[in-house]
Amino acid sequence: MSKIQMTTPLVEMDGDEMTRILWGMIKEELINPYVELKTEYYDLGLKHRNETDDQVTIDSAEATNRLGVAVKCATITPNAARVKEYDLKEMWKSPNGTIRSILDGTVFRAPILVKGIVPYVANWKKPITIARHAYGDVYKNVEIKVPGAGKAELVYTAADGSEIRETIHEFKGPGIIQGIHNTESSIRSFAQACFKYAVDTKQDLWFSTKDTISKKYDHTFKDIFQEIYDAEYADKFKELGIEYFYTLIDDAVARVVRSEGGFIWACKNYDGDVMSDMVATAYGDLSMMTSVLVSPKGVYEYEAAHGTVQRHYYKHLKGEETSTNSIATIFAWTGALRKRGELDGIAGLCEFADRLEKACIKTVEDGKMTKSLSLISTCKDPVILNSLDFIKAIRATFDELG
Ligand code: NAP
Ligand code: MG
Repeated sequence: MSKIQMTTPLVEMDGDEMTRILWGMIKEELINPYVELKTEYYDLGLKHRNETDDQVTIDSAEATNRLGVAVKCATITPNAARVKEYDLKEMWKSPNGTIRSILDGTVFRAPILVKGIVPYVANWKKPITIARHAYGDVYKNVEIKVPGAGKAELVYTAADGSEIRETIHEFKGPGIIQGIHNTESSIRSFAQACFKYAVDTKQDLWFSTKDTISKKYDHTFKDIFQEIYDAEYADKFKELGIEYFYTLIDDAVARVVRSEGGFIWACKNYDGDVMSDMVATAYGDLSMMTSVLVSPKGVYEYEAAHGTVQRHYYKHLKGEETSTNSIATIFAWTGALRKRGELDGIAGLCEFADRLEKACIKTVEDGKMTKSLSLISTCKDPVILNSLDFIKAIRATFDELG
């Protein structure tokens, strides 16, 4: 069989620890035998980030802006322990944060459903995709622990020196205050990414905030979404038979739980953080979640939702057997290859991605899985495979499907 040819390279962002090991196995067993892989390779492993003063992360994000599609391996976000472990020059920032700020993106997370792993919410039949705004609010807050009686004010000073001033509270004793912000341009990017993704995946889009209480802050989100929908997307949605609606977050929670899934739920930053953990837990776990960063310009970066699986890596280094689930990382590759295929008009690449995803799901449904999956599967006698044998089992299924 001749290999599938590519025209435009993918941006390949290699990473750390166990996921870096899986990365190599996936390429060797599942991609290279079938695809004449073209990538622009960036090594985001912590050692190389340190050697390049983290320039490699910036370069990889800029390459993504230039080429349009990236696939990223999980990477270590350094903390004090990592600074020591890797003898780092600095506590480098989270690569995902750096990439997000360069691409100005929104993160979409969706569960990978397989028979035998039953969601805790019995009526969820289709995936629920969470679209999380990845800028501002409580993640860029300023806080004061108020020591005692006094007046707290919110003051905005314009460039010309004029002021807007509001009293937050007249404290009679100790308390706490917090200042948060967002920018209109970031909210517009968020809305654009959500509408584009809904059109792309032909799913309904729900958006929820607490605008009844937050009459300016949250209401601005609501208004911007509505304005962009009316001006740019209403016709396209009608044509595709999909729907956009806004609802209060309390109402959204009730509706989501009663739904059968199959839609995108756009959330502000904090809501998205909390709700994506809720959704991931209810569907299984993080190793069965895909994650894609979509920029308002229509640039895509695919990754797994989980981290570098450090504990498994240390077992691997000691020569012990690991049984790490590679499915989310494989889906990062298939997502990126399919998108490349769509953009470059290479049907064979899209079909390859579809078939490889089917092979992952069928392998698990046939009872061959990793340890972590066996713990949440209803399969009676699962065959528990090590990391490499699981990937080889997927390859065997892939060949059968051909
Ligand atoms: P993690 O790598 O997601 O792993 C947490 C635990 O979840 C693992 O110890 C393992 O449990 C289980 N797990 C996660 N993925 C699995 C998989 N594919 N197969 C089987 N089990 C899996 O999170 P972490 O240990 O908190 O973080 C490790 C490193 O990852 C950190 O340095 C962090 O900075 C980084 N991180 C990176 C990203 C990213 O690049 N997107 C995201 C999150 C974290 P058991 O050990 O019980 O088997
Ligand atoms: Mg969280």
